[in-house]
Amino acid sequence: MQFVDTINRSRSAQLFEEAKKYFPGGVNSPVRAFKSVSGPPLFIKEGQGCRFTDEDDNTFIDFCCSWGPLILGHNNARIREQVLETVSRGTSFGTPTKLGNQLGKLIIENNRYIDKIRFVSSGTEAVMSAIRLARGITGKSKVIKFEGCYHGHVDSLLVKAGSGLVTFGVSTSAGIPESFAKETLVLPLDDRALLDQTLQEHGHDIACIIIEPVPANNGLLLQDKSFLECLRKKCHKYGVLLLFDEVISGFRVGFEGAAGHYDIQPDIITYGKIIGGGMPVGAYGGSHEVMSHIAPDGPVYQAGTLSANPVAMAAGHAALQQLLEPGFYERLEAKTRKFVAGIRQYADEKGYEMQVQQIASIFWIAFSRDKIVRASQIDPQSMDKFKILHHELLQRGVYLGPSGYEVGFVSAAHAESDLEEAAGKMKEALDIVFNSQA
Ligand SMILES: *Cc1c(COP(=O)(O)O)cnc(C)c1O
Repeated sequence: MQFVDTINRSRSAQLFEEAKKYFPGGVNSPVRAFKSVSGPPLFIKEGQGCRFTDEDDNTFIDFCCSWGPLILGHNNARIREQVLETVSRGTSFGTPTKLGNQLGKLIIENNRYIDKIRFVSSGTEAVMSAIRLARGITGKSKVIKFEGCYHGHVDSLLVKAGSGLVTFGVSTSAGIPESFAKETLVLPLDDRALLDQTLQEHGHDIACIIIEPVPANNGLLLQDKSFLECLRKKCHKYGVLLLFDEVISGFRVGFEGAAGHYDIQPDIITYGKIIGGGMPVGAYGGSHEVMSHIAPDGPVYQAGTLSANPVAMAAGHAALQQLLEPGFYERLEAKTRKFVAGIRQYADEKGYEMQVQQIASIFWIAFSRDKIVRASQIDPQSMDKFKILHHELLQRGVYLGPSGYEVGFVSAAHAESDLEEAAGKMKEALDIVFNSQA
């Protein structure tokens, strides 16, 4: 398949060549390099609402939304005003600020699943700290994670399942000692028998089970509520803490995230992405008792020079306030459903071998009709089709995250008319995907 651009990407291409002189692979986060899709990555210079514009002045309807944080779209007026207001008084003090209290209060008062929260600066940092907390509380060292869930680039979680029956992790990155990887047991999602067996054998060594309750980093692997309830029950039974990694699902599938959506009480919850309104913020929270183990109250150390940075706190507060407006999530979900339904209907009429998964304002296109609830059920070959889809959408002014394993996000700034426009382009692109493969 030849990928020919009808859009001009020459400035992006030039900037990418320059960036390669400064950054490994020309980027500061690997997927941005467009390795799985065609052409150089777009260098974006500005965003407004549901659209952004690259250095060649191409404008795209954006469904990547900075990988999830921008639930209000680009350059939201209230976030911008609060950030400018705050930054005019300084960028960082290394002291507590009223702005931190303000965001903490807004979250705690509107979330029944945590009593206390600690702000950090990224999702990875939140997860890393939460794992330490779980180990500190239980005095145990091993962690269970699930294949197909991503938890940031925490050493002990950059692991995949070993071959055969052995579930001890094998690192997926150089630089991670096997002894670290061995502290993690990796299980397939939705396999209750294996979960049970693993807990029986290793429960006495296991500090926590970590899961993305809405797994959205390796396709959208929607789980049965009963599987999550089963985790909750088993954790109680074996004295293991349940850690919901809600860095994507938090404030996305509802203000109370997946915990609220499924009404399941985890022991620790991590947040990131939306919580900072587009600024670098992560957080983890739990009950008074759980959080009392964190320094300076308790023995589990965790700190950060720029934690609860005032500008970031102001952005987060301005964002989350808007999410609490009545009907916010209902409107966003209704729009997303309509968008997805249109694409599904078209694909069905044409007999295209694909499906569109959706929850709240998250969607994912898979080029298969089989039920997909585990990472292993995704066909790597189908990513060839995604590559064509991505390319054809770019030519038509629609931007998806540059990998078929990434989900799409609809924001409040995507008007129905924008979604209709995007759906029309999606249909054209799908025609090309399926006809060029025939
Ligand atoms: C994005 C993500 C992370 C990592 O967050 P960063 O801010 O990129 O460090 C961790 N867990 C989940 C579920 C995520 O989606």
